[in-house]
Amino acid sequence: MGRYQHKLIIITAPSGAGKTSITRHLMQHFPQLAFSVSAATRQPRGNEKDGVDYHFMSTESFQQKIQHKEFVEWEMVYEGKYYGTLKSELERIWNMNQIPVLDIDVKGAIHVQQQYPGTSLSLFIEPPSVDELKKRLESRGTETTESLAARVNKAAYELSFKEHFNKVVVNDNLEKACAIAETIVDDFIKS
Ligand code: 5GP
Repeated sequence: MGRYQHKLIIITAPSGAGKTSITRHLMQHFPQLAFSVSAATRQPRGNEKDGVDYHFMSTESFQQKIQHKEFVEWEMVYEGKYYGTLKSELERIWNMNQIPVLDIDVKGAIHVQQQYPGTSLSLFIEPPSVDELKKRLESRGTETTESLAARVNKAAYELSFKEHFNKVVVNDNLEKACAIAETIVDDFIKS
């Protein structure tokens, strides 16, 4: 059994809080970590690649995997769009003797940490304010008016769950937030 068997890191946040940037930073800094590639039924954006950013699949395939109990957790994160963490993905990473990093939504994060209470580290990335979050999503330019409103409403709701997680990192300055996350992860890897 590997040194990191069943250890995992969950990074969660309201959409637009800077979770992806912090996750990328951690992945580059720690060779012990491997990104857990989720399954998703949405279309790839920009230069996203199948098997790298997500395992993109049809709704039918996803539902079949739900029936066959292939997921650690899954959620319909946005209307009609499924996202989920495959058991096979975590096993693949543990078998390489690395620690999976899950970049997942708040509900999914709560479900995963309930399943790995002793061996998981959960980080909640908190945006400085809902207004700031709205500005960030607008400047990203990937949202329509409707999807922006849906993400902002969802973010306000998700903020209310922050006490459920092991550590909260406020992202008012990305460099500072990355440094704080780095220290937390370093302690966890060594624990
Ligand atoms: P996006 O469509 O912007 O890539 O992701 C939308 C949201 O889905 C993000 O908050 C992302 O963290 C979350 N997400 C990605 N993969 C998973 C997953 O496997 N499970 C859950 N519950 N959420 C996920």
